[in-house]
Amino acid sequence: MPQATISLHNKEFTPYLNEAELAAAVRQVAQRINQDYAGKTPLFIAVLNGSFMFAADLMKEVTIDCEISFIRVASYQGTSSTGEVKEILGLQDAVEGRHVVVLEDIVDTGHTMQMLLEQLGARNPASLEVATFLIKPDALQVPLNVKYQGLAIPNKFVVGYGLDYDGLGRNYRELYQAV
Ligand code: 5GP
Repeated sequence: MPQATISLHNKEFTPYLNEAELAAAVRQVAQRINQDYAGKTPLFIAVLNGSFMFAADLMKEVTIDCEISFIRVASYQGTSSTGEVKEILGLQDAVEGRHVVVLEDIVDTGHTMQMLLEQLGARNPASLEVATFLIKPDALQVPLNVKYQGLAIPNKFVVGYGLDYDGLGRNYRELYQAV
């Protein structure tokens, strides 16, 4: 049966990518990581909330020794000259000397990831890469090296598979697109 349109907070979303398409994207990322990090015991740092489903499914496909930890990004308004300030919350693992892979649900403008890479990079990891489930290349505003990309998508708002619209929609197995 074809998936139906869903309504979240009275906003309509249409089916965009199905479970099989999402699973293939996750597997492709995991396979590359399995090759690239064999013998290195990477530390995955997953960014909550949105990445929880991607992180869980990715971990099931990673077959090498690895660790995973979860962080949040807090945003607050700085002075008018600095604009929005973001900082990492909840990072308890030592990053120094580790092969770190940041797990994100989606890279949109890239500002969040840029900040994460700056702050994690300052802790002297042995290496630092990004694995994002989704990326919107047309929305990117900063230069970023995103080594592992599940799917590149158009610049439209999506929900499901961990991603929310004002808190709702994270529980859907498929990805939906704003109408
Ligand atoms: P960036 O700093 O790259 O602009 O934004 C990254 C964050 O914006 C993501 O972690 C996510 O929380 C949110 N975001 C960006 N695009 C989307 C989207 O299409 N759908 C949802 N649900 N969140 C998005």
